[in-house]
Amino acid sequence: MTVTVAIVGRPNVGKSTLFNRLVGRKIALVDDTPGVTRDRREAEGRIADLRFKVLDTAGYEDKTDGSLEDRMRQQTEIAIRDADVILFMIDARAGVMPLDERFAQVLRRAGKDVHLIANKAEGKAADPGLLEAYNLGFGEPVALSAEHGLGLSDLHAIVSKAV
Ligand code: GDP
Ligand code: MG
Repeated sequence: MTVTVAIVGRPNVGKSTLFNRLVGRKIALVDDTPGVTRDRREAEGRIADLRFKVLDTAGYEDKTDGSLEDRMRQQTEIAIRDADVILFMIDARAGVMPLDERFAQVLRRAGKDVHLIANKAEGKAADPGLLEAYNLGFGEPVALSAEHGLGLSDLHAIVSKAV
Protein backbone atom coordinates (compact mmCIF):
# COMPACT_ATOMS: atom_id res chain seq x y z
CA MET A 1 0.00 0.00 0.00
CA THR A 2 1.30 3.39 -0.99
CA VAL A 3 1.11 6.06 1.66
CA THR A 4 -0.54 9.30 0.55
CA VAL A 5 0.82 12.54 1.93
CA ALA A 6 -1.13 15.79 1.46
CA ILE A 7 0.35 19.26 1.83
CA VAL A 8 -2.29 21.74 3.04
CA GLY A 9 -2.22 25.32 4.22
CA ARG A 10 -3.05 28.86 3.22
CA PRO A 11 -1.66 30.40 0.03
CA ASN A 12 2.00 31.33 -0.19
CA VAL A 13 3.38 29.27 2.68
CA GLY A 14 5.47 27.14 0.30
CA LYS A 15 3.32 24.06 -0.39
CA SER A 16 4.18 23.83 -4.08
CA THR A 17 7.86 24.43 -3.38
CA LEU A 18 7.86 21.40 -1.09
CA PHE A 19 5.78 19.40 -3.58
CA ASN A 20 8.28 20.13 -6.35
CA ARG A 21 11.20 19.25 -4.12
CA LEU A 22 9.63 15.92 -3.12
CA VAL A 23 8.67 15.10 -6.69
CA GLY A 24 12.02 16.16 -8.11
CA ARG A 25 12.37 16.28 -11.84
CA LYS A 26 9.29 14.25 -12.57
CA ILE A 27 6.41 16.01 -14.25
CA ALA A 28 3.49 16.38 -11.88
CA LEU A 29 0.35 14.61 -13.00
CA VAL A 30 -2.74 16.74 -13.30
CA ASP A 31 -5.77 15.18 -11.72
CA ASP A 32 -8.67 15.22 -14.16
CA THR A 33 -11.44 14.29 -11.73
CA PRO A 34 -14.29 16.75 -12.31
CA GLY A 35 -15.07 19.35 -9.71
CA VAL A 36 -12.89 20.79 -7.05
CA THR A 37 -10.31 18.01 -7.20
CA ARG A 38 -9.19 19.55 -10.50
CA ASP A 39 -7.06 21.88 -8.46
CA ARG A 40 -5.06 19.06 -7.01
CA ARG A 41 -1.67 17.94 -8.22
CA GLU A 42 -0.46 14.50 -7.34
CA ALA A 43 2.73 12.64 -8.11
CA GLU A 44 5.21 10.20 -6.69
CA GLY A 45 7.31 11.82 -3.98
CA ARG A 46 10.66 10.65 -2.68
CA ILE A 47 12.85 11.33 0.30
CA ALA A 48 15.98 9.20 0.02
CA ASP A 49 14.80 5.56 -0.02
CA LEU A 50 11.20 6.41 0.79
CA ARG A 51 8.52 6.56 -1.91
CA PHE A 52 4.99 7.82 -1.42
CA LYS A 53 2.16 9.62 -3.16
CA VAL A 54 2.12 13.36 -2.58
CA LEU A 55 -0.79 15.76 -3.08
CA ASP A 56 -0.35 19.49 -3.54
CA THR A 57 -3.59 21.24 -2.68
CA ALA A 58 -3.32 24.17 -5.04
CA GLY A 59 -5.40 26.39 -7.20
CA TYR A 60 -7.89 27.92 -4.82
CA GLU A 61 -5.65 30.97 -4.64
CA ASP A 62 -6.54 32.22 -8.08
CA LYS A 63 -10.10 30.99 -8.59
CA THR A 64 -12.88 33.51 -8.76
CA ASP A 65 -15.84 31.24 -7.95
CA GLY A 66 -16.81 30.85 -4.33
CA SER A 67 -15.14 32.42 -1.35
CA LEU A 68 -11.54 31.65 -0.49
CA GLU A 69 -12.82 30.16 2.73
CA ASP A 70 -15.13 27.74 0.85
CA ARG A 71 -12.48 26.64 -1.62
CA MET A 72 -9.95 26.24 1.12
CA ARG A 73 -12.36 24.12 3.08
CA GLN A 74 -13.16 21.93 0.06
CA GLN A 75 -9.50 21.34 -0.72
CA THR A 76 -8.76 20.54 2.87
CA GLU A 77 -11.70 18.15 3.15
CA ILE A 78 -10.48 16.29 0.04
CA ALA A 79 -6.98 16.05 1.46
CA ILE A 80 -8.38 14.80 4.74
CA ARG A 81 -10.40 12.17 2.89
CA ASP A 82 -7.62 10.95 0.61
CA ALA A 83 -4.44 11.29 2.64
CA ASP A 84 -2.89 9.06 5.28
CA VAL A 85 -0.55 11.81 6.43
CA ILE A 86 -1.37 15.52 6.38
CA LEU A 87 1.38 18.11 6.38
CA PHE A 88 -0.20 21.32 7.64
CA MET A 89 2.15 24.05 6.48
CA ILE A 90 2.58 27.53 7.86
CA ASP A 91 5.10 30.28 7.05
CA ALA A 92 7.36 30.59 10.08
CA ARG A 93 8.57 34.00 8.92
CA ALA A 94 5.07 35.40 8.73
CA GLY A 95 3.98 33.77 11.99
CA VAL A 96 0.53 32.35 12.65
CA MET A 97 -2.15 34.18 10.63
CA PRO A 98 -5.94 34.08 11.14
CA LEU A 99 -6.29 31.88 8.04
CA ASP A 100 -3.84 29.37 9.54
CA GLU A 101 -6.11 29.17 12.56
CA ARG A 102 -9.09 28.39 10.32
CA PHE A 103 -7.14 25.55 8.72
CA ALA A 104 -6.24 24.29 12.17
CA GLN A 105 -9.93 24.18 13.13
CA VAL A 106 -10.85 22.09 10.09
CA LEU A 107 -7.87 19.77 10.55
CA ARG A 108 -8.41 19.24 14.26
CA ARG A 109 -11.78 17.68 13.55
CA ALA A 110 -10.35 15.34 10.91
CA GLY A 111 -9.04 12.66 13.25
CA LYS A 112 -6.10 12.13 10.89
CA ASP A 113 -2.36 12.08 11.29
CA VAL A 114 -1.66 15.83 11.09
CA HIS A 115 1.86 17.25 11.34
CA LEU A 116 2.52 20.95 11.63
CA ILE A 117 5.25 22.09 9.25
CA ALA A 118 6.82 25.51 9.87
CA ASN A 119 8.32 26.39 6.50
CA LYS A 120 10.78 29.16 5.58
CA ALA A 121 12.59 28.22 8.78
CA GLU A 122 16.08 28.89 7.46
CA GLY A 123 17.69 31.61 9.59
CA LYS A 124 16.69 33.43 12.74
CA ALA A 125 13.78 35.35 11.22
CA ALA A 126 11.74 32.20 11.73
CA ASP A 127 12.32 31.83 15.47
CA PRO A 128 9.29 33.86 16.73
CA GLY A 129 7.03 32.05 14.25
CA LEU A 130 8.29 28.67 15.42
CA LEU A 131 7.32 29.51 19.01
CA GLU A 132 3.95 30.92 17.95
CA ALA A 133 3.25 27.75 16.01
CA TYR A 134 2.82 25.80 19.24
CA ASN A 135 -0.41 27.75 19.81
CA LEU A 136 -2.05 25.94 16.91
CA GLY A 137 -2.27 22.85 19.11
CA PHE A 138 -0.51 20.30 16.92
CA GLY A 139 2.50 19.95 19.17
CA GLU A 140 6.04 20.74 18.18
CA PRO A 141 6.28 22.20 14.67
CA VAL A 142 8.69 20.61 12.22
CA ALA A 143 11.08 23.36 11.11
CA LEU A 144 11.54 23.12 7.37
CA SER A 145 12.96 25.08 4.50
CA ALA A 146 11.37 23.76 1.33
CA GLU A 147 13.46 26.15 -0.72
CA HIS A 148 16.78 25.16 0.82
CA GLY A 149 15.97 21.52 1.47
CA LEU A 150 16.36 21.71 5.25
CA GLY A 151 14.33 19.51 7.59
CA LEU A 152 13.73 16.72 5.10
CA SER A 153 15.05 14.09 7.51
CA ASP A 154 12.25 15.02 9.92
CA LEU A 155 9.76 14.61 7.09
CA HIS A 156 11.33 11.26 6.30
CA ALA A 157 10.73 10.17 9.89
CA ILE A 158 7.08 11.27 9.77
CA VAL A 159 6.30 9.56 6.48
CA SER A 160 8.20 6.37 7.24
CA LYS A 161 6.11 5.89 10.40
CA ALA A 162 3.01 5.78 8.20
CA VAL A 163 4.39 3.35 5.62
P1 GDP B 1 2.07 27.87 -1.98
O1 GDP B 1 1.13 28.95 -2.40
O2 GDP B 1 1.79 27.46 -0.56
O3 GDP B 1 2.10 26.71 -2.92
O4 GDP B 1 3.55 28.52 -1.93
P2 GDP B 1 4.72 28.48 -3.04
O5 GDP B 1 5.41 27.16 -3.02
O6 GDP B 1 4.18 28.95 -4.32
O7 GDP B 1 5.75 29.53 -2.42
C1 GDP B 1 5.36 30.84 -2.09
C2 GDP B 1 6.61 31.71 -1.96
O8 GDP B 1 7.40 31.29 -0.83
C3 GDP B 1 7.54 31.61 -3.18
O9 GDP B 1 8.06 32.89 -3.44
C4 GDP B 1 8.64 30.67 -2.71
O10 GDP B 1 9.85 30.88 -3.36
C5 GDP B 1 8.73 31.03 -1.24
N1 GDP B 1 9.27 29.92 -0.40
C6 GDP B 1 8.92 28.61 -0.45
N2 GDP B 1 9.64 27.89 0.42
C7 GDP B 1 10.47 28.74 1.04
C8 GDP B 1 11.47 28.59 2.06
O11 GDP B 1 11.76 27.50 2.56
N3 GDP B 1 12.11 29.74 2.48
C9 GDP B 1 11.82 30.96 1.94
N4 GDP B 1 12.49 32.01 2.43
N5 GDP B 1 10.90 31.13 0.97
C10 GDP B 1 10.22 30.05 0.52
MG1 MG C 1 0.92 26.33 -4.59
